[in-house]
Amino acid sequence: MRLEATELTDDERALQQEVRSWLRKRLPVGSYPLGLGMSGEIDPEFSRDLGAQGWLGMALPTEYGGHGRTAVERLIVVEELLAVGAPVGFHWVGDRQSGPSIAKHGTEEQKRDLLPRIARGEVSFAIGMSEPDSGSDLASLRTRAVREGDGWRVNGTKIWTSGAYESTHILALFRTSEDKHTGLTQFIVPRETEGMSINKIPFIDGTRHFCEISFEDMYLPDSLRMGEVGGGWGQNTAELVLERGGVDRWMSVMPILENWATSRSVEGDAAAAADLGAIAARSWAFRGMSLSVARMVDEGKSPVTEAALIKEMATRFEQECTDIVARHYGRTPDLHSDDPHESLLARAILVSPSWSIRGGTNEILRTVISKGLNKR
Ligand SMILES: Cc1cc2nc3c(=O)[nH]c(=O)nc-3n(C[C@H](O)[C@H](O)[C@H](O)COP(=O)(O)OP(=O)(O)OC[C@H]3O[C@@H](n4cnc5c(N)ncnc54)[C@H](O)[C@@H]3O)c2cc1C
Repeated sequence: MRLEATELTDDERALQQEVRSWLRKRLPVGSYPLGLGMSGEIDPEFSRDLGAQGWLGMALPTEYGGHGRTAVERLIVVEELLAVGAPVGFHWVGDRQSGPSIAKHGTEEQKRDLLPRIARGEVSFAIGMSEPDSGSDLASLRTRAVREGDGWRVNGTKIWTSGAYESTHILALFRTSEDKHTGLTQFIVPRETEGMSINKIPFIDGTRHFCEISFEDMYLPDSLRMGEVGGGWGQNTAELVLERGGVDRWMSVMPILENWATSRSVEGDAAAAADLGAIAARSWAFRGMSLSVARMVDEGKSPVTEAALIKEMATRFEQECTDIVARHYGRTPDLHSDDPHESLLARAILVSPSWSIRGGTNEILRTVISKGLNKR
């Protein structure tokens, strides 16, 4: 386990200021629906504007429309977006993990087709991993892709696929042979593919981004396969580093915290001030850990254990922050309140239990951490 202390350079701080001042103009307070971190609203126009700034696909290679920047520079942009609850839902998954994975494992054709569009904020990816009987034990998944002519015939069901209905592509993991781990292969499935139907599942806060996907005799040409046949498990594991170790794992409630910290209720309240101090100290520590993971990614490493450690601790922190603000609120916040911060807090109370489930449950992450530590 290595999480080395690191700080932003002067150039990185300049980028932070640039993003901050652009966001003040592009998203004036009250002009957009506040989001809870990565579950921000889906706003393709905002995603395209962000792409035009060069702030999507930042670490993708320049020959494919990316910007050849670093994972740390991407972290800086993302941190500013999440701090204001920006509408990041359309581009989130593609920018965070599908793009980098396609850059690494995609064919030349896939890279030329998709990476420039990810960097311009024109496409939206969903993650097709979990199935009704395969969540924690993902490698037991049963949606089968069977060779047929020059392609694959797919049958099965995916569930809990966030944002699939509004997405343009699903990066899916299918079973291509019986071997548990080496029998899995990734495919890039365009949203309109015949044989795929997507149904929305209502979430506890009334939103409908959660989906179930059925594949009934769906045919995919082999050109949509990503990476080697049987190489899906390793590719998927590497993606989870990008999914687990980032600032998105502890910043969901930042707009709520900022509003609470600057509100009158904290002034002259010793208990609230003590809670705020503890939250600030822990936020700073998590920020340092995510920054350290991003520097490791920039060095070409795949810090699986470190990313799992961040997610396990940080999602519990987000949940505790929600509980603390709710406790100090003095009454039950109303989900339908005209005050956007009140309704956001009400949503956070409803959905925060899911933060330590999505992306792998804490029980599973603890296993990943202990296995990783025992290896050394
Ligand atoms: C908000 C949200 C968004 C999501 N988005 C997506 C998405 O976009 N794409 C996608 O593919 N999936 C998504 N998921 C699914 C998520 O990855 C799974 O819910 C998660 O991996 C757990 O799987 P499960 O629900 O099948 O629970 P199970 O695996 O059935 O687990 C049930 C309980 O048993 C525990 N458990 C299971 N196995 C063990 C073990 N070996 N040791 C100890 N405890 C164990 C678990 O920790 C959990 O508490 C999302 C989930 C949520 C809540």
